[in-house]
Amino acid sequence: MKAGMQAVPVPFTSEDYAARMARLVDQAVDAGLDGVIVTPGPDLVWLTGYRPTAVTERLTMLFVAPNMRPTLLVPILERPDAEAADGASAIGMTDWVDGTDPYEAASRLLQPDGRFGISDSAWAMHLLGLQSALPDTRFGALSQRLPMMRALKDDNELGRLSLAGAAADATFEEILKVRFAGRRETDVAADLARLLRECGHEQVDFTVVGSGPNGANPHHEAGDRVIERGDAVVLDFGGLMHGYGSDTTRTVSVGEPSRELREVHEIVRRAQQAAFEAVRPGVPCQEIDRVARAVIAEAGYGERFIHRTGHGIGVTTHEPPYMVEGEEQLLQPGMCFSIEPGIYLKGRFGVRIEDIVSVTASGGTRFNNTDQALQVVE
Ligand code: ZN
Ligand code: ZN
Ligand code: ZN
Repeated sequence: MKAGMQAVPVPFTSEDYAARMARLVDQAVDAGLDGVIVTPGPDLVWLTGYRPTAVTERLTMLFVAPNMRPTLLVPILERPDAEAADGASAIGMTDWVDGTDPYEAASRLLQPDGRFGISDSAWAMHLLGLQSALPDTRFGALSQRLPMMRALKDDNELGRLSLAGAAADATFEEILKVRFAGRRETDVAADLARLLRECGHEQVDFTVVGSGPNGANPHHEAGDRVIERGDAVVLDFGGLMHGYGSDTTRTVSVGEPSRELREVHEIVRRAQQAAFEAVRPGVPCQEIDRVARAVIAEAGYGERFIHRTGHGIGVTTHEPPYMVEGEEQLLQPGMCFSIEPGIYLKGRFGVRIEDIVSVTASGGTRFNNTDQALQVVE
């Protein structure tokens, strides 16, 4: 799939944004909150379609609470941009002028003795400003109070995630054709970034190329190491397309793989498949982690699987729900997340396989569908 060939999703309407804000109010009330304060970042984009061109020290805040129209407080000079957002007609707008106190303006929109959730990405200076303007108000992090706020995707969102997944798959098919041996990891990473954009992404978030021993470090991005024949190479890449994320991993072999690499790769593939088959509504998130981990532990590599099995994806590439021990949240249709087990052999090589999966009425469906068999590159 190349640029220009993919379907274009239907734009979100102000009704879509109004529905999200209405659902947020219900969830906030259920969680014992008097309302929610949203600052520029993924929460604001998801609720209103508004993405300020530059996030500056000037206060911008959306207030969503029962029995009031959701209201965006913006610096007066940014008001025209905010009014152009897709969801602008679903919100009221008020502004403040340089030289006046924005926290005083914000405090008029808040219940003085209330409890509010506030975006994780709010600047500390803004939260401190609100706290001193409203000493009896209590604030909590939205990720703690309403972790599932963006977790259930509607059909339009699922369509976008599916398109992003298909574009990441097309990127993988193309990267199999490039030369690996004799080139630096950063060269292959640059190829991945270029291909993601050619396949329709507007933003590239990460291009991990972990060759040989670097693949055993799951946080390695890409470095100066020259890739050699015989290396296993972990390729983990993704970004945003039509505002929604992709994130997929395949591990390839440069030239014929060793028997050990084949064996380890097959264990990871079986773990990924088993976890995928466990996906259905009503299953706790931690169960997906346990299923993947059990396959790897039974094969004797339990200590070498050193991270959680997956994370949610939506308007960001990492968000709740997390597939991790201790997460008892039940899967529901419309949730989307990664399943990405791995085995990391320090100083030698690593293997990870990752697909984005969405929960359906009766099971799960994959948004990444490239062959999971170990691919050989040149
Ligand atoms: Zn990934
Ligand atoms: Zn991931
Ligand atoms: Zn990741």
